[in-house]
Amino acid sequence: MKIAFIGLGNMGGGMAANLVKAGHEIHAFDLAEPALAAARENGCAAFTDAKEAVAGVDAVVSMLPNGAIVKAVYADDVIGHAPQGAVFLDCSTIDVASARDVIAQAEAGGYAMVDAPVSGGIAAANGGTLTFMVGGTDEAFTRAKPILEAMGKAVIHAGQAGNGQAAKICNNMLLGIHMIGTCEAFTMAQKLGLDPQTFYDISSVSSGQCWSMTSYCPLPGVGPQSPADNGYQGGFATGLMLKDLKLAMDAAATAGVDPKMGARAKELYEAFDAAGNSTVDFSGIIRTMGEG
Ligand code: NAD
Repeated sequence: MKIAFIGLGNMGGGMAANLVKAGHEIHAFDLAEPALAAARENGCAAFTDAKEAVAGVDAVVSMLPNGAIVKAVYADDVIGHAPQGAVFLDCSTIDVASARDVIAQAEAGGYAMVDAPVSGGIAAANGGTLTFMVGGTDEAFTRAKPILEAMGKAVIHAGQAGNGQAAKICNNMLLGIHMIGTCEAFTMAQKLGLDPQTFYDISSVSSGQCWSMTSYCPLPGVGPQSPADNGYQGGFATGLMLKDLKLAMDAAATAGVDPKMGARAKELYEAFDAAGNSTVDFSGIIRTMGEG
């Protein structure tokens, strides 16, 4: 297939490279020249004009920073410029309302479109092992699925347009809460005189077990290899966790729910981010605990 890929940053770069490996012809567009140069090296055709990139393609994939940018790119450069009947896949993490808005506009213009945000970071994007949670009609999902399968290990239909984003922010709100809880439990265990490895051995096979403990342990030298073993570098940046928690709180307000633990997680990550930790892995929040 001929596929336009818009937004070839940390995530999009590897995803586009995997589409090339799967045999697709990729038209790459990004505002940043280094991103375009890297895409060229990975076998994409680089375009400096988005409208030219989407001309004549079967599908458009986007991986962009936020909802305002996604809305502007589709309204200005994609809808009405890609061939009628093309399928659009927005893989960015954005707010549910913007996702539904863009999909409605695409459908009104004669296109099929899904929101398909991802779970998994840069390593999963490079390795083609992302999980995609997908919102949209059955027809749009069926058309998007083989494209997503070339970039991921799991592609799950979450229901109507916007439901991919809803799944993503609910999942990441839970992740933020779990991580803070895991950090607090390890900090408290140590203060009470428990060896952290002993606490891990007990809790990882007891009812406190969770992904933040057994797959991403926030203490160096305990559990599997994780960003904690690398000075809290790499992994999932605090700034991105905060972005997702803000999206979750906005969605909660719209839906008329009041998730108190999610709100507290957002406050704690806001403070950690503001203290100069935006690029530090989100498990690094454990460093703020144990005092006072
Ligand atoms: P990034 O900043 O590295 O990449 C975004 C790219 O979009 C950049 O190359 C930028 O130049 C480009 N861009 C911005 N505005 C543009 C425009 N108008 N037209 C064309 N290109 C434009 O960000 P990223 O880490 O790749 O994240 C992308 C998306 O994936 C975000 O929505 C993020 O929340 C989500 N996400 C990221 C991770 C992660 O670990 N990095 C994990 C899951 C989801």
